[in-house]
Amino acid sequence: MKIKTKLRLGLGLLFLMILALSLIAARYVYVLKEDTENILQDNYKTLDYTRNMLLAVDDAKVDPKAWKVFEQNLENQLKNVTEPGEGEITQKIAARFKSLKINTNDEALQVAIRRDLAELTRINMQAILAKSDKALLTVQSAFLWIAVAGTICFVIALTLLVNLPGNIGNPIRELTESIRAIAAKNYSERLHFAGNDEFGELASSFNTMAEKLEEYDNSNLSQILVEKKRIEALISNMHEPVIGLDENKNVLFANEEAVKISGLAVSDLLGKSATELAVQNDLIRVLIEENQKLNGQNHPASLKIYADNKESYFEKEVVDITIVPTGERVKKFIGQVILLKNITPFKELDFAKTNFIATVSHELKTPISSIKMSLQLLETQQTGTLNDDQQQLVSSIREDSDRLLKITGELLSMSQVETGNIQLNIQQSSPYAILNYAADAVKNPVDQKHIELVIQADELLPDVKADMEKTAWVLINFLTNAVRYSQEEGKIHIRVADAGNSIQFSVRDDGKGIDSRYRTRIFDRYFQVPGSSKTGTGLGLAISKEFIEAQGGNIGVTSEIGMGSTFYFELAKA
Ligand code: ADP
Repeated sequence: MKIKTKLRLGLGLLFLMILALSLIAARYVYVLKEDTENILQDNYKTLDYTRNMLLAVDDAKVDPKAWKVFEQNLENQLKNVTEPGEGEITQKIAARFKSLKINTNDEALQVAIRRDLAELTRINMQAILAKSDKALLTVQSAFLWIAVAGTICFVIALTLLVNLPGNIGNPIRELTESIRAIAAKNYSERLHFAGNDEFGELASSFNTMAEKLEEYDNSNLSQILVEKKRIEALISNMHEPVIGLDENKNVLFANEEAVKISGLAVSDLLGKSATELAVQNDLIRVLIEENQKLNGQNHPASLKIYADNKESYFEKEVVDITIVPTGERVKKFIGQVILLKNITPFKELDFAKTNFIATVSHELKTPISSIKMSLQLLETQQTGTLNDDQQQLVSSIREDSDRLLKITGELLSMSQVETGNIQLNIQQSSPYAILNYAADAVKNPVDQKHIELVIQADELLPDVKADMEKTAWVLINFLTNAVRYSQEEGKIHIRVADAGNSIQFSVRDDGKGIDSRYRTRIFDRYFQVPGSSKTGTGLGLAISKEFIEAQGGNIGVTSEIGMGSTFYFELAKA
């Protein structure tokens, strides 16, 4: 409990008890006052009248005027009847006095009046006694209650007296001693106040301070400088560019490589705000860009930088630096280190591979085409009639050469995509023309597998902005995949529909579907779902994606394992 709350509770309770004590005392004093007033009012006056009447009876023997005094006191008494029985006796006295007035010397009457007066005196004295007993009881009860309230007040006051000074004084004393210890450079001193009160908080702040002082005390300046130099040397000797930014994106350090590729002088770089530098320096702008675009293969796009009189390629890696400050518990962000990995050798190898593939596939295309032509000649029977076995051999050679041609075609397209050489011929194209072209192209394999091709096309669709040949190629690729992954006598739906600002082409099959784990990867180059047909290259969908995206469209798939797949792409209306 907080000390403030403890004080409030203790003193508040004490205040309430004192208030209660005062109220009890005031109430009993009032009751006692009432009782005394009653005695005075009711009985003392009657006794006074009775005494006056007795004296008047005696005085009347020498002075008849004394009867007047008697009469006067009797009248007063008649108005001051307060006790039980007092009324009758007073009436009796009044009646006897009436008779006595007629014969004032009647001794017997005088004696009777005296006796009545004595009785009146007795009644009142008894009443006084009873009232005095009652007052005594009131006094006793008052005493009891005042004693109870007083004791509680005493206990509370005593508790506060015993505990409060210690509760406040002891921690302050300990704190004073600890501060003295810190002043005497004893930084291992710590406070150990348990609890969540103000002193607990004070102890935690004090300990944090002591911990920091201890750390500073232990750190030796020359040692720190050596460490700093070591790290600086390490960074500057790295062959890859490294730039360090603080939490406000000011450049803290940059090694030689980084300075070289930035094209800036060291003095223009160090200590400057990267955000301001980015306005004029393209490289810095790219480096501090929060989310670098992914190039469709889950890798960050590589940066092409011209340095050392040649083009170099880098991959950016940003490492956020966080520390837990001494004595604290929460992590704090203190800056970023930007590392540029030089991937030029890999890129060069990649180019070499692409060029090789392009050359080989290009060189292969011609002989394969001539093989196909020779096969056609063989089939036309101008070169002689083939028997059944020869016919079968020829058709199997034709299938293989078709496949080879498809593969070399795909490899060539891919190398064009990789070198950025896609030549697009975008023009207004009719979606129906694309659809019919693709449907015709897959007629043979569709018939061979006895597949039903269901074509659904919305009516009066507008033209699309597309490269007719490449778009048809994508649709054919969807359809050949659908045929390949469909059962014999299955069904494939081609749909062309209006999708607002664009036209959507989709191909749905009832094949085995695609596991959700691979769905995002099937558009990656050379990726084939494990266990699927090995006849392809894994390039069809990657090329399709490049073709569609190069035309400003988007491509995708929805599929559930065992429920078939729907591949689609959308192209803007012309
Ligand atoms: P491939 O030439 O191997 O068919 P693609 O890029 O066209 O290469 O396809 C990549 C992978 O996607 C294929 O290996 C296959 O596993 C999967 N795939 C493509 N189309 C379908 C489909 N209609 N049904 C099931 N799987 C498919």
